[in-house]
Amino acid sequence: MKEVIIVGAGAAGLMAAGTCIERGLKVLMFDKNQRPGRKLRITGKGRCNVTNNCTPQEVIAAANGGRFLYSALTSFTPGDAMAFFEGLGVPLKTERGRRVFPQSDRAADIADALVRYSRGAELCRETVKKVLVEEGRAVGVKTDRGYYKAKNVLLACGGASYPATGSDGSGYRLSEELGHILVPISPSLVPLVERGGICQRLMGLSLRNVGVRVTAAGRRKPVYEDFGELLFTHFGLSGPTILSASAHMRPMSAGAYTVHIDLKPALDEGQLDARILRDLEEKKNRQFINSLDRLLPQKLIPVIVERSGVPGETRCNSVTRGQRKSLLAVLKDFTVEIESFRPIDEAIVTAGGVSLKEVDPKTMGSKLIEGLYFAGEMLDVDAPTGGYNLQIAFATGRLAGLSMGE
Ligand SMILES: Cc1cc2nc3c(=O)[nH]c(=O)nc-3n(C[C@H](O)[C@H](O)[C@H](O)COP(=O)(O)OP(=O)(O)OC[C@H]3O[C@@H](n4cnc5c(N)ncnc54)[C@H](O)[C@@H]3O)c2cc1C
Repeated sequence: MKEVIIVGAGAAGLMAAGTCIERGLKVLMFDKNQRPGRKLRITGKGRCNVTNNCTPQEVIAAANGGRFLYSALTSFTPGDAMAFFEGLGVPLKTERGRRVFPQSDRAADIADALVRYSRGAELCRETVKKVLVEEGRAVGVKTDRGYYKAKNVLLACGGASYPATGSDGSGYRLSEELGHILVPISPSLVPLVERGGICQRLMGLSLRNVGVRVTAAGRRKPVYEDFGELLFTHFGLSGPTILSASAHMRPMSAGAYTVHIDLKPALDEGQLDARILRDLEEKKNRQFINSLDRLLPQKLIPVIVERSGVPGETRCNSVTRGQRKSLLAVLKDFTVEIESFRPIDEAIVTAGGVSLKEVDPKTMGSKLIEGLYFAGEMLDVDAPTGGYNLQIAFATGRLAGLSMGE
C-alpha cells in the first residue's frame, strides 16, 4: 500500500509529490492527461510567470482568501520558489511588476523541472472518479480502471477553466461528494463581453498604455484602476488590464459595470486640448475626420468622431471650442458597457471552490475527513495576474506534502 495518493499532476500536485518523495514516502499520482503539467506548459503565454518577486504578505494581500494562505506562504515564500527552481537548474529573471519568468522564456522548463523533482512518484494516466472513505478516513480512490489504497489522499485537481488541460471541475464534484461545502465557482481573469457593438467595430485593435477604470452601478469609487494594454475583440474586451479588472467585477450582472478607457493618459485635459488645437490649425482646410491620424490609430477615428458628435465633414478651422470639449471628453473617457464575463472555459483562473472553513490552513487537511488534503486552485482562493496563482499552487502543494509526511 502507498502512503500517499495525489490526484492531479499539475503545479500543486507535482510540488506535493516531490515534497513527499523527499521525505521518503511512496507516492501514487493520478492524472487524466498523458503528460504531467499540461496547464503549466501554457502559462504566461508559454513563458510561465512562475511567481512574483514579492513578500508573502503581499501575496496574501493580493489574493482572495489570502489570510487562509498565511502558513502555506510563509513556509514556502516567493523567494523560496525562486531558489527552488534555480536549484533545479532553471535560471529566472524578474520583469515589470516583479513578475518572475524562466530566463529561457519557456514554460516547459518549469514543468519539466517539477516533473524531475517529483521523479520517484508512480504516475498513472487514470481519471479519479471517487475518493474512498472508511470510518471517516480517506483510504484510497476509485478510478476509471480500478481501486487503489493509501493512507492519505491529496486532491489537487485544479479549477474549471481551460478544461482541455484536464482541470474540468471534477475535483469540485469529488469534494462535494465527500460532504465538503463548495463556494459557487465563477470565472476570474477572464475577458469581458460588451453591451452593444462598439468593440466588434474595433476588433483586432490593441492599445498599449491606456488608462483603464471600471465603475459599478450604484458605487461611487471605481472598483479598478490601472494603466496598460487592452484588446478589442469580436465580443468585447480582452488583454492584460481587462483580465486583471475582471477579478474585481463580482458579482457580475448585465449592465452593472462600465469600463472607462483613457486613450491619452499621459496628457491632462489642458495638454490634450492644446495638442488637438495644434493639429486642427495645421490641417485647417481639411475635414475634421482627417485631422486625427496623428492622435489615434486609423480604426478608432470614425468611432471617436461619431461619439464626439462633431460632424466628420466639419472644416478643421470651424471646429468650435464646445466641439473640442466633446472630443476631449471621448478621448479621456471612452466607455464600454459590460454585459457579462466570457465563459469559465476562457478564464485564467476559477474563483470559488472548496470552502476554506473546512480546511485546516496549517496543514491543508480536511476538517471533515481524516487523511484527506487539498491544494491549488480547487480551494476557494484566487489572485490577480502576476505569478500569484502559481505561487499559491506551489505553496499549498508544498504544505500538503509536508503535512502528509508527518
Ligand atoms: C492560459 C493560462 C495561463 C496562465 N498563466 C499563469 C501564469 O503565467 N502565472 C500564474 O501564476 N498562473 C497562471 N495561470 C493559472 C495557473 O496555471 C493555475 O492557477 C495553476 O495551474 C493551478 O495549479 P493546480 O495544480 O491547482 O491545477 P492544474 O495545474 O490545473 O492541475 C490539475 C491537474 O489535475 C488533473 N485532474 C483533474 N481532475 C482529475 C481527476 N478526476 N483525475 C485525474 N486527474 C485529474 C488535471 O488533468 C490537471 O493536470 C494560467 C492559467 C491559464 C489557463
